[in-house]
Amino acid sequence: MTHHPVSFAIHGGAGDMPDRDHGYADHLAALQAIGVSTRQALADGADAIDAVELAVRQLEDCELFNAGRGAVLNADGDAELDASIMRGDGACGAVAGVRRPRNPIGLARAVMDDGHHVMLVGPNADQACDRFGVDTAPPDYFVVNDRLRQLDRARERSAIMLDHDEPLGTVGAVARDARGALAAATSTGGMTNKAPGRVGDSGIIGAGTWASDASCAISSTGHGESFVRVNAAAQIHWRMLLGHEPMTAAAELVIDQIVACGGMGGLIGIDRDGLVCLPMSTRGMFRAWAELDGPVQAAVFR
Ligand code: ASP
Repeated sequence: MTHHPVSFAIHGGAGDMPDRDHGYADHLAALQAIGVSTRQALADGADAIDAVELAVRQLEDCELFNAGRGAVLNADGDAELDASIMRGDGACGAVAGVRRPRNPIGLARAVMDDGHHVMLVGPNADQACDRFGVDTAPPDYFVVNDRLRQLDRARERSAIMLDHDEPLGTVGAVARDARGALAAATSTGGMTNKAPGRVGDSGIIGAGTWASDASCAISSTGHGESFVRVNAAAQIHWRMLLGHEPMTAAAELVIDQIVACGGMGGLIGIDRDGLVCLPMSTRGMFRAWAELDGPVQAAVFR
């Protein structure tokens, strides 16, 4: 079997984050550590789908990011979580509006592995945790003080906020493994003060997440409504497949469309040759990546 050099990218959200004296050292350290373990898993022979799930689980567990523990809160003050995962052969799973799984990406993966359906939502998805043997957590596990303060600020301004102004973020991962297979995964708490029941792009295959071994693996972050409107992640795949556009050009065009429809955000992508792209319309995107067996790099600003 041909050994392909491995590549991955992870993100912890895009946004217009302000400058900070400490330069987001905590975020960079977390991204670097999770990046190193993702690269190691791929170097040890992990499948891309397992590597992206593992990366997103660690990002969900990290309070700094808007997913799993530390997710932003909806208008009722609850964490309502969306996640999706896709393998390059077309297998995929997604959950939206869930409140119970400790790691929403694990529930999305269980939906994928079960294979009967692609997407489960709300209380019925929460109940499926027991059927699939997915670990759960009590509601207060997800809520951290910073998010309560963020919700108060959003309520005062009657605003529905992308958390990255604050800044924190939705999480995602894309990878190419040593067999050359691709996978993508995304997980989020959505937007602060969102209407209960609102679902953004992160839980939607084609908008927030896409993977095809014929083209690329994509995970998006930003104003979810815009990413849904332009079918962001899948559009990059179709531009590559039918329009023969390189991934970077296709991804930049899609980001331009997000801006044209009033949104903002960024995405991470890996094409089938293992090249990485990290376009954004925002000041920054928390990210780490390694291209073609190269070293792990991490960055915040554009
Ligand atoms: N895309 C996410 C959503 O709209 C938010 C984010 O990326 O932070 O739910």
